[in-house]
Amino acid sequence: MSAPASAASSQAATNNLEAFWMPFTANRQFKQAPRMFVSAKDMHYTTSDGRQVLDGTAGLWCCNAGHSRPKVVEAVQQQVAQLDYAPAFQMGHPKAFELAARLAAMMPSPLDHVFFTNSGSESVDTALKIALAYQRAIGQGTRTRLIGRERGYHGVGFGGISVGGIVNNRKHFGSMLTGVDHMRHTHDPDRNAFSRGMPESGAEYAEDLIRIIQLHDPSTIAAVIVEPVAGSTGVLIPPKGYLERLREICTQHGILLIFDEVITGFGRLGSPFAVDHFGVTPDLVTTAKGLTSGVVPMGAVFCTSDIYQAFMDGPAHMIELFHGYTYSAHPVACAAALGTLDTYEDEGLLTRAADLAGYWEDGLHSLKDCPNVIDIRNLGLIGAVELDPIAGEPTKRAFSAFLKSYDDGILIRTTGDIIALSPPLIITKGQIDELFGKLRTVLETID
Ligand code: PLP
Repeated sequence: MSAPASAASSQAATNNLEAFWMPFTANRQFKQAPRMFVSAKDMHYTTSDGRQVLDGTAGLWCCNAGHSRPKVVEAVQQQVAQLDYAPAFQMGHPKAFELAARLAAMMPSPLDHVFFTNSGSESVDTALKIALAYQRAIGQGTRTRLIGRERGYHGVGFGGISVGGIVNNRKHFGSMLTGVDHMRHTHDPDRNAFSRGMPESGAEYAEDLIRIIQLHDPSTIAAVIVEPVAGSTGVLIPPKGYLERLREICTQHGILLIFDEVITGFGRLGSPFAVDHFGVTPDLVTTAKGLTSGVVPMGAVFCTSDIYQAFMDGPAHMIELFHGYTYSAHPVACAAALGTLDTYEDEGLLTRAADLAGYWEDGLHSLKDCPNVIDIRNLGLIGAVELDPIAGEPTKRAFSAFLKSYDDGILIRTTGDIIALSPPLIITKGQIDELFGKLRTVLETID
């Protein structure tokens, strides 16, 4: 095909928006007025009409190092030319081991082992399966129940939506895994609206786990999974003392505790992981997103030495964990992750949010007097502005804010009527001012 013909066919394909069924998107609205990014660098996207958009959400909570960073780009380019793929089952390649060792060294002991996946959803399902298999491996096979939490988001696999606590999953997909129960969520706007950082009240919500344990008996419960900070359901910050109490209860009853750190991992709170930030060590940790700064899909599940060793008993030629993905530890993903970790290290990004958190918090809470704002929440470089829904038209006000923000040159994310913000960790104070300045205009303009 000649070059002009190829360009013409590519243009025609771009004009035909129908074939792509977009995920978590209002497809009909989008296809009437498409919003296309064609390139990205550092803190900005460039749109197809040539405008710069400041990234207030690190893509989808993932581009923690910013966009198209040189070390990551170079690592991926070199890797794809050198070793494009290696089977993950019964074979290895050096970067997988290098990456796992480096990650394990970043996590507090005893979270010393790493299982690779390709997404947050896969990390969650992997962690749940490891928890179930572990209980069997140690002779606790009656422990088959999994406990999640209302308003938890753990991705879109059947395991993740079952332990998650999102009404729309129940409404649209019906039955899920059986043998799952949910603690109540910790969101309490009557007591905690406009808290700065962690709310003072609400540690007692951890006692809801006791209620569930008493209902089912601990001998039936394998694991509890929570996001240390719930992100996708609207940025719900844990009350002071809550996570510590969950840990205590789980330990007391032989229940594994899983932290879903798909959002909080890799510097979002100002420490490498929420495990460090809160000083609470779970038995398993799920990650993805910031692991490669969103450049190549990849996830990682961390588990304790006790869990890993429990599988290492049988004959040495037997596969210990009957689980894995064709693309687990994909060489290009490993290279992207190593380039990302180098970038984090060189620029001190995994603790940078701690330095900026106060400035971020002040800027965010300055929006308190904007129309329709009913709550503001923050921790590290995460923020949420909750809007009063339009009567009878939930989500519409926040969606208007999203569209107007895009027109005004900032990328925000909305969930329900909540605006969620989580910029790349390279954001400057000037860009924080720009983000909140433009958001103020947006909130003052929309209905
Ligand atoms: N877990 C949490 C806490 C998340 O926030 C997400 C995504 O936002 C997931 C799991 C799912 O990740 P993915 O979309 O990569 O499957």
